[in-house]
Amino acid sequence: MSRELPTLDRLEAGVIANDRMLLARAITLIESALPDHQALAGQLLLKLLPHTGGAHRIGITGVPGVGKSTLLEALGLMLTGMGLKVAVLAVDPSSTRTGGAILGDKTRMQNLSLDPSAFIRPSPSSGTLGGVAKKTRETMALCEAAGFDVILVETVGVGQSEIAVADMVDCFVCLMLPGAGDELQGIKKGVLECADLIVVNKADGDQKLLAEQAASDYRSALPMLAASHSDWRPEVLTVSGLKNEGLDQVWATIQAHKSAFTASGEWDEKRRTQDVRWMHDMVADKIERLMRDDDKLRTMMEACEGDVRAGRLPPGVAAQRIFEAFSTVHLKSE
Ligand code: GDP
Repeated sequence: MSRELPTLDRLEAGVIANDRMLLARAITLIESALPDHQALAGQLLLKLLPHTGGAHRIGITGVPGVGKSTLLEALGLMLTGMGLKVAVLAVDPSSTRTGGAILGDKTRMQNLSLDPSAFIRPSPSSGTLGGVAKKTRETMALCEAAGFDVILVETVGVGQSEIAVADMVDCFVCLMLPGAGDELQGIKKGVLECADLIVVNKADGDQKLLAEQAASDYRSALPMLAASHSDWRPEVLTVSGLKNEGLDQVWATIQAHKSAFTASGEWDEKRRTQDVRWMHDMVADKIERLMRDDDKLRTMMEACEGDVRAGRLPPGVAAQRIFEAFSTVHLKSE
């Protein structure tokens, strides 16, 4: 951070007051890799915790070109028009691998970005998927403390990013193209299993019939895909983000999903489970990082990887050796 950091109290008050400058600085603090900043970010999140949890968290995924930004802009404007405050966040770990962000284009969602009730924040641009997802979850907490009613988290199918997003939201929406031949369009089956809602986009002009056909294909495929953990049966809708058709139905369905989950008690349960899983993921992430950052441990782990791969060492024995080496380095003072 180039300028002097505002005090924690100022950041806390600024976020709660929905001061965009201080919200942006708080997010930058959260995204910072400096240990001092990370410690401060942790304190800030703890202070803001009582103010979090109030937003409806919605994830949206789809291949590049499916129409995510067009649809998010139209949906975002519809929601702000209803008096809601909307934040749009992104999880795009591609930027760490390729140096170019798929979702980073500044020309996206231009009208929404001018709307005072909306806040758009591109994906954190460095780190592993776990790191990017952590920053996005924490940014989501800041946005909740800032009073946003709806948080839309967008992602493309890079690596496991859809799964990471599905695991941080209340409702997960898969955006699909009409037609495209195969009804699953290369979207991993596991992703559709996470879907609460499948939306076939571009149902306009020549593609309207194709979109209806694709929707019908998904409806027949759903009984095989649908997760069995709740009363909610994933729905399939067709829309046109470009022509702004069907978005009211999308919103009504997302609301119906919320009502069903609230009525069954799964709403809170799902969030609590996500938080606990997130905690465990972060511990695992941290241990993994400590191992990778230590030259000796890393070399040892790589050697074990080679031995396990070659069938020379049972995985359990390798894991035990790695853990013992880790204990010697990191737990010796205890
Ligand atoms: P993203 O990469 O998923 O964010 O997709 P974009 O929103 O950038 O859209 C990709 C292309 O599809 C653009 O040329 C859009 O104009 C077009 N597009 C987006 N939504 C629709 C739609 O509902 N109907 C039609 N016909 N085209 C659309």
